Amino acid sequence: MRLVLLGPPGVGKGTQGARLSQALGVPSVSTGALLRELIASGAETPQVQEARQILRGAFVSDSFANALAFGAMAGQPGFILDGYPRSVGQAEALEGALAAQGVRLDAVLLLKLSAEALSERMAGRRLCLGCGATYHVRIAPPKCEGVCDRCSNKLGLRPEDDQPEKRRLRGQLYETQTAPLIAFYHGRGLLHEIDAEGLPEAVFRKVCESLRRLI
Ligand code: ZN
Repeated sequence: MRLVLLGPPGVGKGTQGARLSQALGVPSVSTGALLRELIASGAETPQVQEARQILRGAFVSDSFANALAFGAMAGQPGFILDGYPRSVGQAEALEGALAAQGVRLDAVLLLKLSAEALSERMAGRRLCLGCGATYHVRIAPPKCEGVCDRCSNKLGLRPEDDQPEKRRLRGQLYETQTAPLIAFYHGRGLLHEIDAEGLPEAVFRKVCESLRRLI
């Protein structure tokens, strides 16, 4: 399966991507996670500086995004993309790269959520400062408050979430960049909309139903 997850920051793409990855046995490629890994690597290269700017809400150049995503997808029989493509230019590059391998995307799942629900979800997101595992204080809390289930490190805010102003900026960036992308995939007959209201289990059931109709 080759899937793209679309939706505003905070809608739950990472959570659904991880579940799909387990269910389908293909890797989930999250550009947010890749950027955070890059920054955690410690080296202060121009690439790391650009990654930090991007997480702070800066525009991602197509060439940087393509290189990041293609690197993670290389040699994989399938994937679930989360956070890529972000522009029509990137979507065309992805289409071209897949066509060169004689394959194509199976579906693009668009997760939709009301503005109030989105801001509540983003405010509750937490990140393990040790291993990068993600949590939500209400819908996916750790067993012990503020502590990672996997590695017992402290949980904190994501670098891209820690100020309401940054969250608003990313929301605006999403609107301007993603609206044309939705039209692009709709035109390709690949777009499937999913109501992302509710707990992760309920949303995952809707995602699976949508995929079943495809197969
Ligand atoms: Zn951890």
